Amino acid sequence: MSTAEPAPLGGGGERVGDLSEEELLAVITPLLPRAAQAPVGTGDDCAVLSFPDTRTAVSTDVLVEGHHFRTEWSTGRDVGARAAAQNLADAAAMGARPVALVIGLVMPPATPVAWVRDFAEGLAQGCGPCGAGVVGGDLSGGESLVVAVTVLGDLEGRTPVLRSGARPGDLVVHAGTLGRSAAGLALLSAGPQVVAAVERDGSPAQARSCLAAFRAPTPALAAGPALADAGATSMMDVSDGLLRDAGRIARASGVVIDLDDPDDLPDLSFLEPVAALVTDGAAPATRTLARSWLLTGGEDHGMLATVPAAVGHLPADARVIGRVLDPGTPRARALGHRPGVLLGGEPAQEHAGWDHFAGA
Ligand SMILES: [Mg+2]
Repeated sequence: MSTAEPAPLGGGGERVGDLSEEELLAVITPLLPRAAQAPVGTGDDCAVLSFPDTRTAVSTDVLVEGHHFRTEWSTGRDVGARAAAQNLADAAAMGARPVALVIGLVMPPATPVAWVRDFAEGLAQGCGPCGAGVVGGDLSGGESLVVAVTVLGDLEGRTPVLRSGARPGDLVVHAGTLGRSAAGLALLSAGPQVVAAVERDGSPAQARSCLAAFRAPTPALAAGPALADAGATSMMDVSDGLLRDAGRIARASGVVIDLDDPDDLPDLSFLEPVAALVTDGAAPATRTLARSWLLTGGEDHGMLATVPAAVGHLPADARVIGRVLDPGTPRARALGHRPGVLLGGEPAQEHAGWDHFAGA
């Protein structure tokens, strides 16, 4: 894959290498979202955040051009929105409200200034739904585009929700979408003619939303703290595929996750018209492909959680997709009575999921 200079996305013009760091910051800073809980924001040696809760949820993610995104597939705005979304989802998946991002950005000198402006607007787009802001960061020249994002989240008095707390008898719930980002990636991989047809005709509408989900996912951020409030015993965001991430909860908790038949999930009928574009409509292949996106596609960043069976109230976008079993139960015989994931009563093929080290 090429790591050549990004295509000019803002009509050419100035390049990053033409500006001093101060000049570039003057372009970016007014576009960045502000954090309400930052008594000191950007412009000093450090920002200062104020959390009523004395505990802070912190996580970092890195996006590398050519590995996590391609400038010919994603605009600067998409990359900014995606970088924000995946980090905000990590904070939400702990039961925290995402408050602030810190951004490290490495750019080749030939990067158009318009790309960086787009990127800053994408950060604002990604932060919009939860009110988080960018409170600091660093800019550097380098060989290829690299985006490093750190998120800080306020637990607001909630107990942090870990992967290790699922208990036999709990329900497995998911909030958000499944498989759409993987479907969008498959459309982009299928070639520019497929994407151009979708974008020109606006149909099927599902394909457009899958392209958007890959380029700039919109995680169910509010569902994280809401599920924590509902008593979630374990939680994570689905970044590597439903089966693989369910397996992580299962092993961390020492339980079996028994998933419902995916044919019952609305995500499958949503994904089938998109799969038909890639398989030329051959019915069995279409259903198989849609199922694989749903079960193993990552990066929609929905919230996967376990909740007590007696849970009173679930967030509106959360639905029950399975149950937590004791590994000793007869139904878990197929797993050798070890922690893992059952799909249709059989051991799930977890490892078909997205592997960050295998490349985009
Ligand atoms: Mg995560």
